[in-house]
Amino acid sequence: MKRLVPRELSNRASLFHDHRCIELNVGIRAAAWALENMGGRDARVIATAEASSCAVDALQAILGCTAGRGNLIVKNDGRLAFSFYRLSDGMNMRLSYIPGSAADLARILEIKEHLGAGNLSEWIRTRLEIELSNLQKKEIHRLMSAPLEEVFRISPLTEPPVPVRRGTDIFVCERCGESFLEKAADMKGAPAVLCRICRGELQGEE
Ligand SMILES: [Zn+2]
Ligand SMILES: [Zn+2]
Repeated sequence: MKRLVPRELSNRASLFHDHRCIELNVGIRAAAWALENMGGRDARVIATAEASSCAVDALQAILGCTAGRGNLIVKNDGRLAFSFYRLSDGMNMRLSYIPGSAADLARILEIKEHLGAGNLSEWIRTRLEIELSNLQKKEIHRLMSAPLEEVFRISPLTEPPVPVRRGTDIFVCERCGESFLEKAADMKGAPAVLCRICRGELQGEE
């Protein structure tokens, strides 16, 4: 069977993340799709994750989309969904994870609850841990080998991402005395050198 995701990509993400969990593999599958369909790591792609999760590490490791580069947006909406937006032509896609078996999901939850409660005999604990690991492996295998449309609900983006606003030059605020980042071109002609917060306090945020 041909591997849908090159082993090298999975390994890179797992190494970066430090373990192989279901969420990481969801991110690997999504990021590998974006890498293949939207161009290499050098393509200017903005990745958005709708929740902070292990999956975000796969986007960083595989796509090179990072908070530092400003091309990774991590929202707090809770959904295990990702979108990719190519700046050159607006090509975009949103991928929302479809878990495999509802019964398995429920069992995983149940096992985690048992394990969290403590006061288990060593024998029971070990048995539960093995069962949990097998359920996770089963889902990881499914999501890495099933057709993309069985793993993700796929749709176009309803609106383009709002790029993270970032400054590239360092200034010192005349009001609060703290350093701040802004683009020098944007500061030209400003009545005073003020950080964004102090500007907001003085004249209401834009
Ligand atoms: Zn993880
Ligand atoms: Zn200030």
